[in-house]
Amino acid sequence: MAKIFCIANQKGGVGKTTTTVNLAAGLAKVGQRVLMVDLDPQGNATMGSGIDKRKLELSVYDVLLETATVAQARVQSAKLVDAGCGYDILGANRELAGAEVEMVELERREKRLKTALALVDHEYDFVLIDCPPSLSMLTLNGLCCAHGVIVPMQCEYFALEGLADLVNTIKQVHANLNKDLSIIGLLRVMFDPRITLQQQVSDQLKARFADKVFDTVIPRNVRLAEAPSYGVPGVVFDAASKGAQAFVTFAQEMVDRIQDSKPN
Ligand code: ADP
Ligand code: MG
Repeated sequence: MAKIFCIANQKGGVGKTTTTVNLAAGLAKVGQRVLMVDLDPQGNATMGSGIDKRKLELSVYDVLLETATVAQARVQSAKLVDAGCGYDILGANRELAGAEVEMVELERREKRLKTALALVDHEYDFVLIDCPPSLSMLTLNGLCCAHGVIVPMQCEYFALEGLADLVNTIKQVHANLNKDLSIIGLLRVMFDPRITLQQQVSDQLKARFADKVFDTVIPRNVRLAEAPSYGVPGVVFDAASKGAQAFVTFAQEMVDRIQDSKPN
């Protein structure tokens, strides 16, 4: 059975999509079978995985409305497969923005993704879900099927403020909809050790959240920012870059955490 993780933070531009596609590529590189689900109508994770969102025949939208299965809608990117970092992609585009409204009338609306993933779950080691920057019905669908949430955050003053809202939402989902859900960890991203404030916030995070803070730190690295325009994750674009190496290390940390948490 796959371990399902949401990459969530209700703020935009904090590194969710970069984390999702690079962790997916990093996990694939270390031999894991991965499905990446794009739950953001912006479709950045889809494009960043080399799939043209405008040309998608089927997407996560069809899966949520139950007009297609995951097996029918998933695609692969040849560029990633050729690089030895191939993962399956359940893509998204603007159509997904309509799902929010269309689903209001439907029953089990927050569990649609969970139901759909249950059919393919045995084919993967990891399912990674890139969430939109909101605590919407789409994000709720992600949280309802996940075992855990990975929260990418920049070590800035306001990062801690936003975290409280996310933690509350996760608590509510845990209490009412999904007993499995917990925060797996906080991932420090776009980190620049030369900035004193970032060091201070990083220390505060460690003091307050202890082992919920991942050991791996993702540095600010321009190669990670350049990669999406080439339709590949940074891990594929420039494997030798500091950013790519950090994400492969993070992928291994995730694999180790999962193995440690399994009863023998
Ligand atoms: P989100 O999905 O949370 O909106 P993104 O992953 O799209 O955030 O990242 C926002 C911007 O920051 C993008 O332009 C991305 O390329 C850039 N970025 C993300 N992580 C890094 C990093 N570690 N180093 C440099 N740029 C980064
Ligand atoms: Mg994004």
